[in-house]
Amino acid sequence: DQQSAWRDFSSSEVYAADLESALHYLLRVELATHSTLQGEELQVFKDFVTLVSKLYPGGGSVVKLMETLSDWLLSLPLPRIPYQAVLDLVDNKMRISGVFLGAELRWVGCQGSRAGLRGYPCSLWTLFHVLTVQHDATPTALDNTGLEGGAAPVLQVMRRYVRTFFGCEECGRHFERAAAASLEGVQNREQQVLWLWNQHNTVNDRLAGSLSDDPLFPKAPWPSPSLCASCHDEKNGVHEWNQDNVLLFLRKHYGASNISPRYSL
Ligand code: FAD
Repeated sequence: DQQSAWRDFSSSEVYAADLESALHYLLRVELATHSTLQGEELQVFKDFVTLVSKLYPGGGSVVKLMETLSDWLLSLPLPRIPYQAVLDLVDNKMRISGVFLGAELRWVGCQGSRAGLRGYPCSLWTLFHVLTVQHDATPTALDNTGLEGGAAPVLQVMRRYVRTFFGCEECGRHFERAAAASLEGVQNREQQVLWLWNQHNTVNDRLAGSLSDDPLFPKAPWPSPSLCASCHDEKNGVHEWNQDNVLLFLRKHYGASNISPRYSL
């Protein structure tokens, strides 16, 4: 039970254990509700796996597993793939090659004060923030993947993933509406990082005080002044974000060198 193993953590760090748990949950729980993948679903899944294999920082066993999965998916001429085949591949690869994705969920920065709070949705946000920042840091990483065309490839994959697979359907609808309204305006990698930050704050704002709000982690505009003082300005007594400094902060916070291996396997 989650209560028995509270993990000490710092809110100024990002934890590899949360990112690994996000992928574990996504591959073994979320996807399992689709017994076969075909058509748009299969394409969205392929693109998601490609994106993670190219942009997940550190080049460790997560990347190896996602590369293997990606190569396998791209080599299959099948119009539909049973979910069980995906699961078999993930299990076999992990057993044979020692390539590893945690065998259990291990939330750290995303642990909740009780079961049902935080966890997976928190880690999915975290994963995509990391991917937008990594795309900004390694502009050519998506070359020759078919994803390099548009100005906001990470957000486009996220949009389609969330719409197609995310277990919270209400979340998917909200996110789709936001993307349809303003994703077109995103013209470069910096704006891609900032769009996701801003959208996440819009969701925080909407959810503050709601049932999904963990009392230990109340929803609030992020980053707080204590995390990033220079992100906050005031003009005529009104709060304003300093977007240049927010961008610098996001690059640092979600950058590869701020991802802690603590609690990771
Ligand atoms: P989260 O909001 O999950 O944030 C995780 C961590 O990200 C925080 O702890 C903080 O370190 C960091 N963070 C916070 N804000 C920002 C920011 N602006 N930029 C960068 N990093 C930040 N729930 C609903 O009830 N209704 C919805 O419509 C809904 N839509 C969602 C849409 C998406 C795409 C996702 C991934 C989740 C959605 N959720 C929705 C879930 C909700 O947003 C939270 O993920 C969930 O309530 C858990 O909250 P949390 O306290 O762990 O913090």
